[in-house]
Amino acid sequence: MARLEKYEGIEPEKWSETYETEPQGLKDQPWFKNQVVRFQVDPELWSAEGFLSTLQAVEGQMDRVREVKNGPRTIDLDIILFGDRVIDSGDYLTVPHPRALGRAFVLLPIADIDPKLVFPNGISVADALKKIDYRIEGMKIYQD
Ligand code: AMP
Repeated sequence: MARLEKYEGIEPEKWSETYETEPQGLKDQPWFKNQVVRFQVDPELWSAEGFLSTLQAVEGQMDRVREVKNGPRTIDLDIILFGDRVIDSGDYLTVPHPRALGRAFVLLPIADIDPKLVFPNGISVADALKKIDYRIEGMKIYQD
């Protein structure tokens, strides 16, 4: 957040707690930490693609390392939603994030920030959480 707010037109507005998340898929690795942040992004200055390239630049500044797909990584910044826009720029950018509605570690932090949020396809965060199998204990999220 500190790195991103240095850019003109990007302001962190609200953020969730940081959760500890059980790894999905590749089980033999440490737990992840997940947080969702809502930024106020000036539409005169930023497209969604431009914002993603800045997230990638910040990952680079933080010496992002990931050796194995779905494996441990030092940092991973994704766009979950960009207002109510639906974007498909080929492989480069898909918004809403295609796996967001199935992941408790995305949905629970969104619910901290905006419990009434509805995705552009009409599915609410609350309904998406009812459809998936997960367990939360304190700040720990279990989901296979
Ligand atoms: P990962 O490092 O696993 O998050 O994947 C990053 C790759 O996914 C990059 O090549 C991005 O261009 C692409 N990508 C597609 N949609 C998104 C999104 N909504 N947020 C972040 N990266 C995305």
